[in-house]
Amino acid sequence: MRNLLGGKGANLAEMCLLGMPVPAGFTITTETCTEYYALGCNYPQGLAEEVEKALKKTEEVMEARYGDPQNPLLLSCRSGARSSMPGMMETVLNIGLCAETIEGLIKKTDNPRFVYDAYRRLIMMYSDVVMEKAEGIEPEEGKGIRVQLDGLLQKMKSEKGYKSDTDLTAEDLKDLCDIFKAKVLEVLGTPFPDNAMEQLWGSIGAVLKSWNGKRAIAYRRIEGIPDEWGTAVTVQSMVYGNMGENSATGVAFSRNPATGEPKFYGEWLMDAQGEDVVAGIRTPNPLNEATKTDQTRHMPSLESVMPKAYDELDQIQKNLEVHFRDMQDIEFTIQEGRLWMLQCRVGKRTGVAALNMAMDMLQEGLIDRKTAVMRVAPAQLDELLHPILDSNSEKKAKVVAKGLPAGPGGAVGQIVFTAEDAVAWHSQGKRVILVREETNPEDVEGMRVADGLLTARGGMTSHAALVARGWGKCAIVGCEAVHLDVGRRVMTINGKEYPEGTVFSLNGTRGFVYDTKVETMDASENPRFKEFMDIVDSFRTMGVRANADTPEDAQTALDFGAEGIGLFRIEHMFYGLNAEAPLSKLRKIILSENAEERQQAINELAPYVKVAAKETLRVMDGLPLTFRLLDPPLHEFVPQTLDKQKELAEELNISVEEVIRRSDLLKEINPMMGHRGVRLGISYPEISEMQIRAIFSATAELIKEGLNPIPEIMVPVTLSVKELDHQKIICDRVHKEVEEQFGLSFTYVYGTMIEIPRATLLADEMARNAEFFSFGTNDLTQMTYGFSRDDIGSFLGEYLDKKIIPFDPFQHIDEESVGKLMETAVEKGRSANPDIELGICGEHGGDPQSVYFCYKLGLTYVSCSPFRIPIARLAAAQAAITSPNS
Ligand code: PEP
Ligand code: MG
Repeated sequence: MRNLLGGKGANLAEMCLLGMPVPAGFTITTETCTEYYALGCNYPQGLAEEVEKALKKTEEVMEARYGDPQNPLLLSCRSGARSSMPGMMETVLNIGLCAETIEGLIKKTDNPRFVYDAYRRLIMMYSDVVMEKAEGIEPEEGKGIRVQLDGLLQKMKSEKGYKSDTDLTAEDLKDLCDIFKAKVLEVLGTPFPDNAMEQLWGSIGAVLKSWNGKRAIAYRRIEGIPDEWGTAVTVQSMVYGNMGENSATGVAFSRNPATGEPKFYGEWLMDAQGEDVVAGIRTPNPLNEATKTDQTRHMPSLESVMPKAYDELDQIQKNLEVHFRDMQDIEFTIQEGRLWMLQCRVGKRTGVAALNMAMDMLQEGLIDRKTAVMRVAPAQLDELLHPILDSNSEKKAKVVAKGLPAGPGGAVGQIVFTAEDAVAWHSQGKRVILVREETNPEDVEGMRVADGLLTARGGMTSHAALVARGWGKCAIVGCEAVHLDVGRRVMTINGKEYPEGTVFSLNGTRGFVYDTKVETMDASENPRFKEFMDIVDSFRTMGVRANADTPEDAQTALDFGAEGIGLFRIEHMFYGLNAEAPLSKLRKIILSENAEERQQAINELAPYVKVAAKETLRVMDGLPLTFRLLDPPLHEFVPQTLDKQKELAEELNISVEEVIRRSDLLKEINPMMGHRGVRLGISYPEISEMQIRAIFSATAELIKEGLNPIPEIMVPVTLSVKELDHQKIICDRVHKEVEEQFGLSFTYVYGTMIEIPRATLLADEMARNAEFFSFGTNDLTQMTYGFSRDDIGSFLGEYLDKKIIPFDPFQHIDEESVGKLMETAVEKGRSANPDIELGICGEHGGDPQSVYFCYKLGLTYVSCSPFRIPIARLAAAQAAITSPNS
């Protein structure tokens, strides 16, 4: 019932049913949240009565009463969405403490220190979450009520010469509560409520409102979680891990979430509340002996300190994993020796861990092959192919600090100290490492753009560490040698100062920090990766090809499992390495003024095209290779600098002025819709002919060498079958001529890109003279939206912020518009030519959700850049597994 009760509520209910020790409570549904917002932030009718009823039941089970002066029950109020949003929404603990109940609780527990400690925590959380955040008050950085109260706490400690919070006596804490309440009134203008029911409803409302808090919205945007889902609110009896040395609290994973190692793994703190672990305020201890590291060897494990509770917990985590058949992330509290389960959920994990766990669980018989394939998110594969620090270069560098290895991989970048700076620097194209005092969920946007994350405090299971891992970020937390002075923008490590902008390197797998640039390298191939991808391919039905234009890229694509090339952009030979010579020939073609001049330049360019075609066909031996005829935006190739203009003037034997004059003639107001694509081939058939001849000659030469080249000719930017007819005549003629010249015969495939809306609507006609369609969704999106693919940056952010469009349509296919056009083209194309092959070669071909859509459309293949091929293979397999008609 996760959709209705949220992940947390549903899993608590499940643990109850399994007979595990869960403190009694109830959950207010996500539908209530949606209704609450529909009613303009008012509670739906009947909610009050239902809460009252559920509370009564809770009181019966716990044998205590909420708000009762003699035997008071305390509650927690927690958020919980359908899909986990760690730390992004709010929680209030210890509610129900007020003048009336404090006395009763002191009598009941005989522990005034504990009671006042709980009370001061309540005041801090409640004033922050309910009285400040939920009221929409936005104090300046460092001026929030929570920070101010914490300042008062620190002040009292230093005045009294205390080192730790635990030095505070009951009397101190009692005084502190009074000081806190006075401060709350002074800063927020309202008194802290001294009524248990008021606290309960205040907390429920604040948790509902936290669904629309800044952090939650930012996280939803990044993760693609719909705004309409809403959060559930779980109200639950409090249990305490801070009732002395026989009490504890912790967070654990049934397997290691960073590496996937099948060992019970976690962290705990003695005499503490759960928030102390997840908020990263104290650095916690390792759970057991087996998972200690060099950095944690000296710390006490729960296994050794509280063996009985540990054994019970260990058995529960085993049972939970068998029940849910997946790695569990659990929160627990031990109150005076008694274990309580506060939460369980499927744990977030790195890509490496996801892969290792899927393969381990398959071997253990816990899951089947299909489930194993579904267990790795396509985007996580990216992370497996991500860089790590080069060990040779790393050996030469000196470790300046060590922390907890919260997110594996390597990162190199300039240090910045606020999330805002991380975002700003990143937008200037810089690589940054975000350094923070503690792991704070408010930094999500900065964490997102940073290459690495380094924090001075906090543990492996702090919320920020979870989030970082979920995104496959390199992260080191709890690095206590780090001291930050955000005001002066310097970081100090062992007395040495590093200003903002200093280059640092992180080894997130080992927790090592370097104050220099260490070289990076690709992660050495995990042997299980190949094994996993073989299983993936056994379910995949849609083909995966690559967009590649050089022999080197073609080889990379093959290594990643490409089954052909779906897009060889001929014009790419004019960019990058060794482009100078062919580029100057192309410029000559573009600027020539008569057929004779042009033909000469074309003849000069031809050998370059043939070599590029031949060597790539050689690498792709036996596999299809789709050559797309030149689609050059002419303006990009016109010489801009005087040097180049002079060079060209010499080549063409004309003056520089003449070069400039001819260049000016080529200027277009709107080059994306100008003289490009097939239009060029219509105006200058000799340019098409040269390319086709080069491709076919390369093919014939390779056949003579005994190879099996499979060329396909693709015509770009078409809008009418007449364009296809026109170019096909050239193809057929040249094909025949080349066959005769070489004295052999071979076949070729002829097709078109579909990237103009008109072509999708007339696809039945297009299919008359095309053996394949390949959707060019870059241009198709550009022309469907009327958004320039090159200029969208100037307004996209605003369109997303104002929710005018839900996502960047150049990233994911917009199924409602571009997708509809594709669907039309597929239907019409198939109706005219049932055997037509259908592919996609726009950037969307490597986007998992677009790949899924292509599968639904019944495309033959997707084509994407070499590094995204494993992602596309996995997405295609997952589409086949989850599709209703599979
Ligand atoms: C496209 O438009 O989607 C495409 C693949 O062609 P290009 O990106 O080269 O315009
Ligand atoms: Mg295009």
